[in-house]
Amino acid sequence: MNSIKHTVSKAILIVSLFALAFSGCQKDQKNTSIKITKAGPIPTDVLAKIKASGFSTDQVVKVKEGYLVEGDIVLTEAFLNANIVKPAPLVTTDSQGHKTTITVDQYRVTNPVSPSNQHTFVTFKILVTGLSSGYLSATDEAILRYNNQYLDIRFQRITSGTPDITISGYYDNTTSTEGYSGFPSSGVPYNSIQLNTYWYGTNPTNTPFTASVIQHELGHCVGMRHTDYADRSFSCGGLPSNEGAGANGAVQIPGTPSGPDAASWMLACNDGVSNRTFNANDIIALNYLFPYLPGINGTGTYAWTATGSGSGTITAKPGTIVGLAIAAFGPGNSVNFSISGALLNGSLSSVTVSNNDIPYTFTMPSTGSVSWSASYTTPTGGGSGNIAPYVASAPILPTVNINGATSYKWTLAGTFTGTIKAPAGRVVSVTFNLEGPMSVNFTLSGVNFTGTTSGNVVVSSNYVVKTFTMPASGTVNWSGVFSSNPGNGEIDVN
Ligand SMILES: [Zn+2]
Repeated sequence: MNSIKHTVSKAILIVSLFALAFSGCQKDQKNTSIKITKAGPIPTDVLAKIKASGFSTDQVVKVKEGYLVEGDIVLTEAFLNANIVKPAPLVTTDSQGHKTTITVDQYRVTNPVSPSNQHTFVTFKILVTGLSSGYLSATDEAILRYNNQYLDIRFQRITSGTPDITISGYYDNTTSTEGYSGFPSSGVPYNSIQLNTYWYGTNPTNTPFTASVIQHELGHCVGMRHTDYADRSFSCGGLPSNEGAGANGAVQIPGTPSGPDAASWMLACNDGVSNRTFNANDIIALNYLFPYLPGINGTGTYAWTATGSGSGTITAKPGTIVGLAIAAFGPGNSVNFSISGALLNGSLSSVTVSNNDIPYTFTMPSTGSVSWSASYTTPTGGGSGNIAPYVASAPILPTVNINGATSYKWTLAGTFTGTIKAPAGRVVSVTFNLEGPMSVNFTLSGVNFTGTTSGNVVVSSNYVVKTFTMPASGTVNWSGVFSSNPGNGEIDVN
C-alpha cells in the first residue's frame, strides 16, 4: 500500500545508503557471524532438525529462546520437535462455509495460528513491557493495520493482565537484527517479539518504520514466513540465497505470486527507515488464512426444529453485501424475521418466509454488526428452518485517499486544502513526513484526532502518526499551513 519515498537530504541519504547495505529484519549477513562465534557451534542434530523443518541452516544463531534462523525467526526446541512432519493438506473454506481440501506448495508455516471458527474473531492481547511511549505508538499503529483488514484474528494492546504476545526490548550493537519473533505452535501465536533498541533508539520517532517491523514480527507470530523465502537476496541484497528449500514449513498461499513480491510486509529485509505495510497480495494472503466470514450468533447457521423464537447479531466485514438464506421447511412452517441496523433488499425491516431458501441481502454497516430477531412456527408434523448468512458481494477493501492519492506532497510554504476520503467508520492513519526545518499546522474539519478533543495538530518533526475515525459522510475536509525553508513534506494516509 503506501510507502514513504522521501526526497532525501544528504544526511538522510547517507543513513539510507548505510541502511540499504545493511538492511533488514536482519540487516547485515556478515554481522551475524559474530554472534555465531560468540555462541559457539550449533549442534549437528539441531541443524538436522532445522533443515528437516524446511529452514535454512546458514548462519543459525543460538539465542535464549532457541535458534535464530533467517535473520529474525526463533525456532524453539518445541517447534523443532513438533514440526518434523509432512505438511497437512490445506483446508479452505469458501464464503458459504464449504470446505475444500487442496495441497499447495509454498509461504506460510505448516501450522499457522488457528483461526476462530471464521464466523467470529479471536483477539490476541499484546503487552509492551519495558519500552518507551514511542514503542507504544508504533505497536498501536501495527495493531491498527491488522485490525483494519477485518480478519478473524485481531490484536489489542493491554497494559495489564495476561498477554498472548509480549513485546520487549534488548540492546545489541553488534548485530544486524532489528528484532525477532517466532512461529505459532498448536494453533497459538508465538508469545514474544524482541526488538533490538539499537536500531530505533530509546524512544523511536520514526513510528511508521517501527510499526512496520512490529507488523512484520506479528506476521511471524501468526504463521507467516518471508515472502522472498526462496531468495532473500531480493530484499537483503547480496548473492541469491534460499532460506530453506525443505519439503516442510513453507506453503504458498493460493492467489499470491510464487516469486518475491515487491513491498510485501513479509520481505526478509528492509531499508531501516521506510514505512512498509500490506500490499495487495499480502491482503489476499491474510484473507485466505484468516477469513472473517458472515456469521449469525457467532456461527455459520442458526437453525430450529420446533416452534420458538430467537435473537442475536449478524456479523461481517463492514461494506459486505450480506446474503441471508432464510428457510422454513415443511407444510405450514414459517418464520417472521426482523433486522435492525440495516434494511433487507434495501427497504424491508422484517419479512415472513414460508418457503425454502428465500435470499435477502443487506449491506453490513461500519459497525460490522446488526441485530436480528425471529419467531418461527412448525405446526404440523414437525419441521425445521434455518437462517444462514453468506457473502453475496465482497466488500471493497477499505481504501483511503487524500486529494485522490495516497500521499500529499509539498516543497513550498503555503496554505493548502483538500479532502480525505475513506469508508465510514474506518480508522484512518495520517502520517506526517517532514524533512528539513519545517512545520505544518494541520486541521481536520468536523472530526477529532483519536484521544484528543481537537482536529488540529502542529507537527514540526519527522514521522508523526495521528489517527481519526471517518464519519458517516466518508469525507473529511483538511487544511494545512506549511512552512518550508526549504524542505520536503509529505502526508500519507492509510
Ligand atoms: Zn522476518
